[in-house]
Amino acid sequence: SRPGWFSRLRQGLSRTGSGIAQVFTGTRIDEALYEELEAALLMADTGVKAAAALLDDLKRRVKAAKATDPAQVKALLADVVADWLSPLQRPFEIGETTPTVIMVAGVNGAGKTTTIGKLTRHLAEGDCKVLLAAADTFRAAAREQLGVWADRNRVEIVAQEGGDPAAVSFDAVQAGRARGCDVVIADTAGRLPTQLHLMDELKKIKRVIGKAMDGAPHEVLLVVDGNTGQNALAQVQAFDAALQLTGLVVTKLDGTAKGGVLASIAAWQKETGREVPVYFIGVGEQLEDLQPFDAREFAQALLG
Ligand code: GDP
Repeated sequence: SRPGWFSRLRQGLSRTGSGIAQVFTGTRIDEALYEELEAALLMADTGVKAAAALLDDLKRRVKAAKATDPAQVKALLADVVADWLSPLQRPFEIGETTPTVIMVAGVNGAGKTTTIGKLTRHLAEGDCKVLLAAADTFRAAAREQLGVWADRNRVEIVAQEGGDPAAVSFDAVQAGRARGCDVVIADTAGRLPTQLHLMDELKKIKRVIGKAMDGAPHEVLLVVDGNTGQNALAQVQAFDAALQLTGLVVTKLDGTAKGGVLASIAAWQKETGREVPVYFIGVGEQLEDLQPFDAREFAQALLG
């Protein structure tokens, strides 16, 4: 049987997304079915381009398979979606370099701090020595919350009340080297209280981390909320332009998320040639609710 997180993912996606499963309950494969399917894909937040491309691909496969039953079309759609999303799938592996420095970005509320807590757990289970850097020095709550995750995972944290985010990151990387840590994870601000531009601040943090250690940060991850639909794609584009992302985490796919945004991220990557894998998906608020992204599982959950 499927693990609990899979059913949470399926429930989350089907609550709003799938309309998709309903499309295949009829007896005929006709233009009305494809129109309904297009509407369902758009409702699931795939965006117009990805919906059109998925449909084209599906129609080709339906023809080639000489399918006669909508249930066959549904199975073929699962293949189409899985193939479409598979370029986003890549295992998250920590390299040989110690410490490996991971910078994590994302707008407030996306699930950044929670994701760092879960990722720390994931790494600590693999016997990695992790150090957290509270580089969101603007919000006391952010620092406190990261502290809670550090305690829960029994790892150290570098924080400085009201300090400069880049300086905190610099100190953390140096501390990570001095203490023989395997991984340093820097939590960054998702919004600034000042007139300063967030992207400039994040670029500065990235630059200063590079000064603390050649080649760092080794990973620049963006956390996006799977509920935010096409806005999530806009965030990916904006943060990637500023920071050259190395990977994504899509959160809250257990909630009311529609999931189609992954198809639009895949479409963007196809179009631009950028490769930014989705390393993990968030399927709950607990420490174990961070799962490696698997295109086929995701396609199955999406189709209900
Ligand atoms: P940040 O502002 O980006 O650091 O966001 P937080 O980590 O504080 O998360 C914002 C809210 O989203 C919190 O209530 C988290 O518990 C919740 N959250 C984060 N990830 C997930 C997830 O995968 N599923 C669910 N259901 N909630 C999540």
